Amino acid sequence: MQKYSLAIHGGAGAILRSEMTPERELGYRSALLAALGAGEAVLRNGGGALSAVEAAVVALEDNELFNAGRGSVFTHDGTNEMDASIMCGEKLQAGAVAMVQGVRNPILLARRVMEASEHVFLCGAGALRFAQEHGLEEAPPEYFFSPFRFRQLEEARARGLVQLDHSRKYGTVGAVACDAHGNLAAATSTGGLTNKKYGRIGDSPIIGSGTYANNRTCAVSCTGHGEYFIQGVIAYDLSCLMEYKGMSLQEAADFVIHHKQQALGGDGGLIAVDARGNLALPFNSAGMYRAWVREGEEAGVGIYE
Ligand code: ASP
Repeated sequence: MQKYSLAIHGGAGAILRSEMTPERELGYRSALLAALGAGEAVLRNGGGALSAVEAAVVALEDNELFNAGRGSVFTHDGTNEMDASIMCGEKLQAGAVAMVQGVRNPILLARRVMEASEHVFLCGAGALRFAQEHGLEEAPPEYFFSPFRFRQLEEARARGLVQLDHSRKYGTVGAVACDAHGNLAAATSTGGLTNKKYGRIGDSPIIGSGTYANNRTCAVSCTGHGEYFIQGVIAYDLSCLMEYKGMSLQEAADFVIHHKQQALGGDGGLIAVDARGNLALPFNSAGMYRAWVREGEEAGVGIYE
């Protein structure tokens, strides 16, 4: 048995202290700590890494502050299309969904795809049909509507921009965990980019880009400009640097975010944990909503550098 560790993120980007009010900051901090607490409760009670990351991400998806589940941003057409994925580092099993509408918790759907289908990745109408066949909870469009997000869409449309959930609220959520048996898991969920068109899918549901877990190396969940994370195959690259080059978790995580991503021009960050429970949470943007805990230690929470 070993000590467990857990980290979560609520998105990275242009999160500026100057644009934050004390109330809003408090809201984010307490939401992050609540989601961390939901995941930690699983680990404290002897649960596995997979259930811990699922519990933390469900809590984040249910909170409209974050761009995932309930708080998902709007597409160009004014809909919410969500992407999510989950991976188990022990068995290298994974489940992912993309362009899903009307499912309350896409991360639960991704896990169901992993455990109850013969596939890894389902999208759009097919993913919804699978969700219905498996009795996953649906939610009407009003559940996903927030005036703030809609204003973001109107602004983005007016300026012809496809944007990260930049301005005030930033999005995408994720969790990584190492449980008492040294098993690793990662989960990521997002509404993607405001004003996205044409069936755009980001890195979050792509195993190896936005999410990866392997007990031999690490578990990773990314956030930021998805196109660059796909091109850089960032989550798997981090794992490979550890496996084939013998880098430590921190060295490999810093390399992919501060050198590789930066050189590609992509901003963002990631959270990662290795099988000894070490954590790394690098980002090259102004901020990243994040929280972390190791068994027996006090939880940490951060927004800016
Ligand atoms: N990576 C996500 C995407 O491109 C966005 C984010 O992390 O905020 O869909």
